[in-house]
Amino acid sequence: METKKYVYLFNEGNANMKNLLGGKGANLAEMMNLGIPVPEGFTLSTEACTKYYEDDKKLSEEAITQTYEALAKVEKVTGKKFGSVDNPLLVSVRSGARVSMPGMMDTILNLGLNDETVEGLNKLTNNERFAYDSYRRFIQMFSDVVMGIEKRKFEDILDEVKALKGAKFDNELTSSDLKEVVNKYKALYKMEMEKDFPQDPKEQLLEAVTAVFRSWDNPRAIVYRRLNDIPREWGTAVNVQSMVFGNMGETSGTGVAFTRNPATGENLIFGEYLINAQGEDVVAGIRTPHPISRLEQDLPQCYKQFMEISEKLEKHYKDMQDMEFTIEQGKLYFLQTRNGKRTAQAALKIAVDLVEEGLITKEEAILKVDPKQLDSLLHPSFDQKELENTEVIAKGLPASPGAACGKVYFTAETAKDHHEQGEKVILVRLETSPEDIEGMVAAEGILTARGGMTSHAAVVARGMGTCCIAGCADLKIDEEAKTFKLSGKLYKEGDYISLDGSTGNVYGQAIKTTENEIGGHFKAFMVWADEIRKLKVRTNADTPRDAEHAVKFGAEGIGLCRTEHMFFDEERIPAVREMIVSKTELQRRKALDKLLPMQREDFIGIYEAMEDRPVTIRLLDPPLHEFLPQVDEDIRDLAEEMELNFEELKATVESLHEFNPMMGHRGCRLPVSYPEIAEMQTRAVIEAAIDVKKRKGYNIVPEIMIPLVGEVKELKFVKNIVVTIAEEVIAKEGIDLKYLVGTMIEIPRAALTADEIAKEAEFFSFGTNDLTQMTFGFSRDDAGKFLEDYYDNKIYEFDPFQKLDQTGVGKLVKMAAELGKQTRPDIHLGICGEHGGDPSSIEFCHNVGLDYVSCSPYRVPVARLAAAQAQVKNYRK
Ligand code: PEP
Ligand code: MG
Repeated sequence: METKKYVYLFNEGNANMKNLLGGKGANLAEMMNLGIPVPEGFTLSTEACTKYYEDDKKLSEEAITQTYEALAKVEKVTGKKFGSVDNPLLVSVRSGARVSMPGMMDTILNLGLNDETVEGLNKLTNNERFAYDSYRRFIQMFSDVVMGIEKRKFEDILDEVKALKGAKFDNELTSSDLKEVVNKYKALYKMEMEKDFPQDPKEQLLEAVTAVFRSWDNPRAIVYRRLNDIPREWGTAVNVQSMVFGNMGETSGTGVAFTRNPATGENLIFGEYLINAQGEDVVAGIRTPHPISRLEQDLPQCYKQFMEISEKLEKHYKDMQDMEFTIEQGKLYFLQTRNGKRTAQAALKIAVDLVEEGLITKEEAILKVDPKQLDSLLHPSFDQKELENTEVIAKGLPASPGAACGKVYFTAETAKDHHEQGEKVILVRLETSPEDIEGMVAAEGILTARGGMTSHAAVVARGMGTCCIAGCADLKIDEEAKTFKLSGKLYKEGDYISLDGSTGNVYGQAIKTTENEIGGHFKAFMVWADEIRKLKVRTNADTPRDAEHAVKFGAEGIGLCRTEHMFFDEERIPAVREMIVSKTELQRRKALDKLLPMQREDFIGIYEAMEDRPVTIRLLDPPLHEFLPQVDEDIRDLAEEMELNFEELKATVESLHEFNPMMGHRGCRLPVSYPEIAEMQTRAVIEAAIDVKKRKGYNIVPEIMIPLVGEVKELKFVKNIVVTIAEEVIAKEGIDLKYLVGTMIEIPRAALTADEIAKEAEFFSFGTNDLTQMTFGFSRDDAGKFLEDYYDNKIYEFDPFQKLDQTGVGKLVKMAAELGKQTRPDIHLGICGEHGGDPSSIEFCHNVGLDYVSCSPYRVPVARLAAAQAQVKNYRK
């Protein structure tokens, strides 16, 4: 059997081998091919990582053998030898996944040093101080990064020796001081690990490689992967590279540089370096690095070569590069290059500039901006300096992006009142319900203890563009006392906190926020995205205000108007409640008559905001008990208000109680029992459309959507009510009005029988919130509580309420789309669940042939870009 290749010398790879060699490894290989000076080395592939996990976290024999073979080749080329006292080879060991990934083990330098080779290094460089400084750094890094011994313990030793010798800075320590440090470090290692510090360089190397593979699965890496759609199966590669030293005197140095400014995108080299230093000194911030332009004076030859290479790299990769370099005694080496991380503003400017410079096409430019990054342009953000110095007191789900700072209030009412008095408020609730809407509107940010990414708080906050952190499990609220405790501190009503809805971080004090500006590049760039994409982008909006916002962000229609949100308005809720507590159809109709004009006004406002764009309006969906108070005190108040008997009202509330309301009397099941509700809503939809058509001349084609259908006869029953009323109104008004009747596909049975359903439905809209809930059998409001355990045990990697589960739920979507088209080839297909704003789910929707995605207003630009990227990646006619 042929042995599998797990190890590649740098000269065996190229930039196209990222999947196998990781980004860093592939780029090192590519630089070597380009003739750029790169220290020799090799890469253990991502397949070696996968194999390590397959083999129960053990490095395979093949990988070990091949590592030693590669090492021998590097020794040959460099003329140095691993473990040699005369001419020791030292290496760095660095992780490198397909995409750069914080959270994993990063770098170990100077590997190969031991009590003997350190003397070899001393002789070779004639610099004892340098040799022992390198050794003590290596022991610290190896102990901390590979073995997990706390870094602080080493720093304490160093501080101790410094104090003893009266040295202020590290570089004031003499070689004999450093020898002392080395001895103390080794003693600490022995105490912690109950064995000596490994002296065999090969053992050091295998330990370090294993540590990189292990770090692929540490908790920070897992969280990062979940937030950035990186599958676990990719694995990471490991790069082993011979060391070059930037700390060998005044003609040596090390630095990092970007070919353009990563904060603004300005086309000017941007970088820093330190003379006589190793990489970590630049990062640690102990000495202040010089701007790269100073290198022209310090080492003009190196500067010239550096500038030539960086230009070559940018042209070659057709993107802004982030490079690391080291100069060893006047000779320049590149240690890394990659497409640099950048702010959203910079990303847009660079993409547009590169097209204008003729370096890339518009299609290529579209792929250079991360859609999720656009979020940060549309929302306020924190002052970075302040943020860095502020402690995170808790973490929840990053439910709606943005930065918010304000005083804490625990009820919607108090939040609203204090907002009206001019305060900035943060609404803190166990969970929110539709009754909290006014408090949510007033709040800068919303923090809930419970609920997932499709909880009420999350969905509504995203819709409004308000920052929200949901499911903050550590948050223990005492509603009576109006306090909560976090990180051991008690917070009272009126105390300041700050929320970062993009990370889920909660801060226990005020932090300054700044509004971001949407520059001219945004517009130019989005025009290209719109030209390219095939998917239309609609919005989920329930008010004219949200609709207007969404149109500004580029929405091409409304894909979901949740009419129940209109029923919670202070003026309407009495009539809604009157309808619910009615004993007879007649009473119910009387109450509905009161709601009709209000509902009609709602729709008029929305049609006017949307002008000629399509509008999908969904009939009432939630279970009716949501509109009634639940606790005795509130029921008593309401009974008084409605002039009803408390006992009777309580009995009504109890009769509406359901054990599992999300699977209860809701959606199309309501009009099956009470057709008059659907009648009133249809009347309002059609009358409003006729009114706006007559007054404004817009060509409005209302799309009436029937929710929670699972059986075609059920749909037919409700559709019949809708069509009867619509025809009656149209005939009475004597106007030609086209309208559509369709359904949501959000129950697995509807997806399974979509060919039947399509006989009655003129369009499908995939309600993937409910479809996910019902396919997994996970409650969308409670899953957050136990999903963490699923991540920890590697059962699921992602929250299926955020990122569509393509294997299961996606299969239903794909099948229903195909079945629907079989029956009705021109059936219009869209998605209105929260996944409609998630880039990877949008790509899926594009691939299965949906016509549009619909998402909350602030995610419309994200969706436009994601849709364009889907088209560039998967061309669709
Ligand atoms: C859905 O279920 O995906 C949907 C959009 O409806 P709602 O979230 O209102 O249940
Ligand atoms: Mg639903």
